[in-house]
Amino acid sequence: MKKLLLSLSLCVLTSQAFASVKIEEELFVLGQKPEVLKELITAGSVEIDHVTSEGFEIYGRNGLSQYLDEKKIPYFDMKSVSKLAFAEYPSHAQITAKLQAAAAKNPSMMKLFSIGKSIKGKELWVMKISDNVNIDEVEPEFKYISSMHGDEITGREMTVSLIEEMAEKYGSNDELTELINNTEIYIMPSMNPDGSERKQRANANGTDLNRNFPDLKEANSAAGRELENQNVMKFQAERKFSLSANFHGGTIVANYPWDSTYDRHPLDGLVKELSLVYADLNPEMRNSSEFAGGITNGADWYVVKGGMQDWSCFFYNDLQITLEVSHTKYPSYSDIPDFYKSNRDSMVSFMKQVHRGAGFKMKRAGVSGTVRVKQLSPESKDLGSYAFNSSEFYKVLPDGEYAYVVTEKNKSPQEIRVSVESNKISSNGNFSVIE
Ligand SMILES: [Zn+2]
Repeated sequence: MKKLLLSLSLCVLTSQAFASVKIEEELFVLGQKPEVLKELITAGSVEIDHVTSEGFEIYGRNGLSQYLDEKKIPYFDMKSVSKLAFAEYPSHAQITAKLQAAAAKNPSMMKLFSIGKSIKGKELWVMKISDNVNIDEVEPEFKYISSMHGDEITGREMTVSLIEEMAEKYGSNDELTELINNTEIYIMPSMNPDGSERKQRANANGTDLNRNFPDLKEANSAAGRELENQNVMKFQAERKFSLSANFHGGTIVANYPWDSTYDRHPLDGLVKELSLVYADLNPEMRNSSEFAGGITNGADWYVVKGGMQDWSCFFYNDLQITLEVSHTKYPSYSDIPDFYKSNRDSMVSFMKQVHRGAGFKMKRAGVSGTVRVKQLSPESKDLGSYAFNSSEFYKVLPDGEYAYVVTEKNKSPQEIRVSVESNKISSNGNFSVIE
């Protein structure tokens, strides 16, 4: 068995540009803790995910199941299960048609566009939802991304349902209408359409996209990364997202940063509160027996390097949480309406949280620089410095009073005062206009 272990680790050490594992086998180890496979984990030969009291998922090269057989460790092959359950789910072409139909209903508030293609040439669709959707307005920017793990399919269906509901109820449902009128919402139901088509976690190259983003210790460079990640990275850099979430499946919990380090996030209290906004409105999440209140710190659960959540929080002024929304990654398709029902209010309330913040817009176009964010009350605290560009900045923050010290290149800083109040959507998006 030493030979297999050695070959598993050699594959990883010699062939991977980044710390991600080539995925050929997708197994669920039953009734054990990850420590039982400590040697493989330490060698970096495998990835683990979704550790619960029932067991954990493990991903790696061919030979993994043989290794478990020889060690007499009980497991099942997740791919054989998913192939059955996936049969009735819509294809990428059918998802595309649903999105096109929603956008066609009201082209002034919904616009479908592609941020690029997957490895196998499928469009990576994003729906922009806002009033005056063809104009880049001064409004807080929010995004949802689902199913970067191709087999974690519930979020794809729920985000499509959310898009369809917004298309249908715009103008008649006050809560959705107010949100759409004052927010720029971007929803990407499927970041890994090739993986979903193959009913697998990884993309067409066998890479886990949620281990393929720049780590906190790396440069924020897209070079050499998977095509799907490169496209998302370019999209992120072009926008000004300040709050987002990404959907997964395998358990039910809201996971907040950081995933890659045991350090606490500078806005630890806020990321917990935002996670609770989601969890509180989803009875199964709230009443979780595995996670108190239905939320968890990422690293406290298990450490993930190269994930999208930490990358977006660290390199951009974009707070992101990870939402695990179904115990089964591939529930029966007929259960999807029930999943949407139990997540719908959480999804809407979480989007509204982007209004828990403050920003500014400069009268001059094309200005870039930095903003130092100082909390003045309820506590006096320096919350760090953030880059801004195209004369606009907006940040989600805890309730309180703040000073933004705005510094452009070769100019003396100017300071503005802003205040943040939760659960308030202001028609100017709480943007101050400055010189
Ligand atoms: Zn996942």
